[in-house]
Amino acid sequence: MCLYSCWQQAQNENLNSRNEMRRIVEIEIEKYLSTKEYNPSPHRFSSAETSVADRTIPIVYSCENCNYKISFKPYDFEKHNNSKNTNIQLNDKIIIDKYIKNTADLITLYSLDFYCPNCNQPTTILFKGGESGYWGIYELEIEKIIVLKNEQ
Ligand SMILES: [Zn+2]
Repeated sequence: MCLYSCWQQAQNENLNSRNEMRRIVEIEIEKYLSTKEYNPSPHRFSSAETSVADRTIPIVYSCENCNYKISFKPYDFEKHNNSKNTNIQLNDKIIIDKYIKNTADLITLYSLDFYCPNCNQPTTILFKGGESGYWGIYELEIEKIIVLKNEQ
């Protein structure tokens, strides 16, 4: 018989040995995102400013590994506010979560994770989001993107 904690330990050791050739990389978000902010505030200070309807552009991420473009709607992020939902497998998730837990400024952020549909690279977008202002409209700001790479 094995206690749960002991079983977990064995699992972790097993995963560590399987994943020792993998590493987390923080990528430069400005290079890979069309925009890192979504702020649909209806206030316009002059008529020359972009109208609200035109500000609801999708956020496009170009995969850091293969340049494949993935488009997100604000709702995709809103769904992940405060949610523990994940789209990636547990063995990848464990490595990423461990990294986030050990990095002070990442712990409080929400995450949206996925495998690139083209090259399969595990990718986690970390963001702040919430309803704000008089209209209570959902706004978000992407703070960090981390990817999990296989060492060659
Ligand atoms: Zn890719």
